[in-house]
Amino acid sequence: MNAPAVTIRPRGIERIASGHLWIYRADVADATGVEPGAVVRVLDRKKRFWGQALYSSQSQIALRLLTRESRPFDRAFLAERIHAAAAFREQIVEGARAYRLVAAEGDLLPSLIIDRYAECFVLQTLSQGMERLKGTVVEILQEQFAPLCILERNDAAVRRLEGLPEQTGLLAGEDIGEVVVEEDGVKFCYDLKRGQKTGGYLDQRENRHAARQHARGRLLDCFAYAGGFAITLARHCASVLAVEISAEALKLARHNQELNGISNIEWREANCFDFLKAADQEGQRFDTVVLDPPAFARQKSSRESALRGYKELNLRALKILNPGGYLITCSCSFHVSEADLLEVIAAAALDAHRTVVVVERRAQARDHPILLTVPETHYLKCLILRVV
Ligand code: SAH
Repeated sequence: MNAPAVTIRPRGIERIASGHLWIYRADVADATGVEPGAVVRVLDRKKRFWGQALYSSQSQIALRLLTRESRPFDRAFLAERIHAAAAFREQIVEGARAYRLVAAEGDLLPSLIIDRYAECFVLQTLSQGMERLKGTVVEILQEQFAPLCILERNDAAVRRLEGLPEQTGLLAGEDIGEVVVEEDGVKFCYDLKRGQKTGGYLDQRENRHAARQHARGRLLDCFAYAGGFAITLARHCASVLAVEISAEALKLARHNQELNGISNIEWREANCFDFLKAADQEGQRFDTVVLDPPAFARQKSSRESALRGYKELNLRALKILNPGGYLITCSCSFHVSEADLLEVIAAAALDAHRTVVVVERRAQARDHPILLTVPETHYLKCLILRVV
């Protein structure tokens, strides 16, 4: 085996032994002469072999473990991993045609995201190592799926930490920018080139589905984006008010509403914090409220201010709910755990003089697998609560 070697310190070995896939730069002892993005052998100081990893010359995450095996991590190995991820999706996506085919660490392919929107595939290669493997990934996708188009949405800010440019574009096939996919009997148009993330919030697919069982009466959808919750739930509710700050997102949302011939949704371009405060002060009432804000804590240091944000939102939402009403409340901040969120909402419920029952505790959809020994892979929390 002739892959270059990186030597790591005992703390790095402990990380690997604990089942994690990341090794920080401070735990690297020697990476002399290793090219940025190379597949390397990971060794301890006694030259014992611990696995193979992608090396980054810039990120604080210096190594991302690919395998603990010594078999070369070649094209066939990569193809097997993608195939295995796809086979798992066949078991769990239940007919959905837009889903995450490869979820990075969750599929043992760190820093590689592949979202499938029917016959179009959208890629993110978020480390130097995956960037180097991008061409091979494209070839494998062509062989395994013969897709209509493969796009890259490498405009994610995390690429900067790797010293990689933010870029988007066509990698193979026809230049298709929009795809209409049916989900739960509802049609969604995904803008693969300009939409948020790779076009949509696929991680909320199962939560949107679960929410149908509870949504009723007058619904308020906060942080609505292109209407994921609003449109899915509109048929189960008397009326829907959907609030979103981005005019671009609302344009797509209105288009989605037309696609489905739904007439009971009102879209409001506003900041949800301001809207909820005003709605509370005006004494407005709703029967169902959805809160799906962006990540407030992208770093550990912003955890406290994130908790204040979640408290404020959930407090207002609980105050404007009618008795018997449902709150579907989410957090996609890894640094805020489910326990943190429950604690914050309990405090909010006390302040709002509401008694609350936890109906369901949910996470991201199963096509975003949670790797047991990599806590960072469990990032999305979704609680379905009932005000009694
Ligand atoms: N619920 C959506 C995804 C929501 S993502 C779905 O299922 O598809 C979060 C959204 O919140 C983004 O569209 C973002 O533009 C919007 N947003 C961010 N800050 C906001 C704010 N202060 N007020 C209103 N919307 C906001």
